[in-house]
Amino acid sequence: MISVEEALEKVLSYVQVLDEDVHSHIDVPPLDNAAMDGYAIKAEDALGATPSSPVFLDVIGEVSAGAIAEKAIEWGTAIRIMTGAPLPKGADSVVRFEDTDEALLRSNRSPLTQIGVLCQIPKGKDVRRAGEDIARGELVLKKGTPLRPQEVGVLASLGKATAWVIRRPEVAILATGDELMDIGQPLPEGKIYNSNSFSIAAQVLRYGGIPKMLGIARDRFGDIEDKIKEALSSDMLITSGGVSVGDYDLVKDVLAKQGEISFWTVRMKPGKPLAFGAIRGVPHLGLPGNPVSSMINFELFARPAILKMMGKKKLAKPSVEAIMESSIQNSDGRRIFARAMVRREGERYFARLTGPQGSGILTSMARANGLVIVPEDVKVVKNGEVVQALMLDWSEE
Ligand code: AMP
Ligand code: MG
Repeated sequence: MISVEEALEKVLSYVQVLDEDVHSHIDVPPLDNAAMDGYAIKAEDALGATPSSPVFLDVIGEVSAGAIAEKAIEWGTAIRIMTGAPLPKGADSVVRFEDTDEALLRSNRSPLTQIGVLCQIPKGKDVRRAGEDIARGELVLKKGTPLRPQEVGVLASLGKATAWVIRRPEVAILATGDELMDIGQPLPEGKIYNSNSFSIAAQVLRYGGIPKMLGIARDRFGDIEDKIKEALSSDMLITSGGVSVGDYDLVKDVLAKQGEISFWTVRMKPGKPLAFGAIRGVPHLGLPGNPVSSMINFELFARPAILKMMGKKKLAKPSVEAIMESSIQNSDGRRIFARAMVRREGERYFARLTGPQGSGILTSMARANGLVIVPEDVKVVKNGEVVQALMLDWSEE
């Protein structure tokens, strides 16, 4: 048997990351520009201005966003300016319309030749400086940065039409088993519904991957072989079932023939059998068929692999220290991941098992928001003892 850590290290050693640093080739904004509609002036010209004794300036032109002023500001002059328009040469500030007598004058005199400034303003008022957002040459986005809507906007503000990104990994999902029926069909005697494909697909989506459903392969060499071919264009293949020691556990035989595969018995419970390998370069994780084992092994091994493919550095699931309100026996020296509801009370967390812990009891997984860890060398965890709980999510009852 290998430890959980060894298994994870082997899975992760396979995953590569590709991306780029993005530097700016321009200043953003490119030029000093008006933050408000008003008049571009030299602030010193308005020294001492008040509503009862305005300072009068000659209006020598107008500039709108996207244009460049034809004239420069000299002492005693102003240029009418719109938000976003580049500041004319010689101007250092913008005085807003509402701080001038424009509204008053506009009705009876047009075009304006003179404007009264009604208050003094500090130098630089309502001017956005060139490069105040991004300076030319600056490292704007580091590789590995997730592209949220705001990063997409930043890239566009640099004029960058294309960028190297780590695309979301496509994960092919294949269930195996003669007993499996597709959902939405009647259930013949002896069959069960394929639930694993859907819990796995939901997990893939949750952690940023794109699931590709390959359906169900029957426990026949040729069928498994054919279905696995459909995974060759994906970034990862996840199968469920067929990796333990039953007569029809054929996934391992197909993989042994088609690619490279290792079978591990991982010192954990549930989820002891696990296969990992590659088929023509596509990493393959063979999860056990039992629905809870499948989900827990996904959390422990597939989730970090998907996060690493997307360039994430923090791969560990969040965990908390919790006080047990149930007891757990550990009979065979494996690491137990027990389904539990963890709740917060003030500064403390409490954990209670969510029901029977058999690896086929999916409803106790559905009631859980965390997995309480019992280490390999701990034989029993008693009521009131402190444990580590991996959080699946933060929902509480
Ligand atoms: P296996 O690993 O193929 O031996 O399967 C172990 C157990 O998990 C058996 O009881 C299977 O019926 C069950 N199982 C396997 N695959 C699925 C699946 N896709 N959905 C639900 N249960 C499954
Ligand atoms: Mg099977």
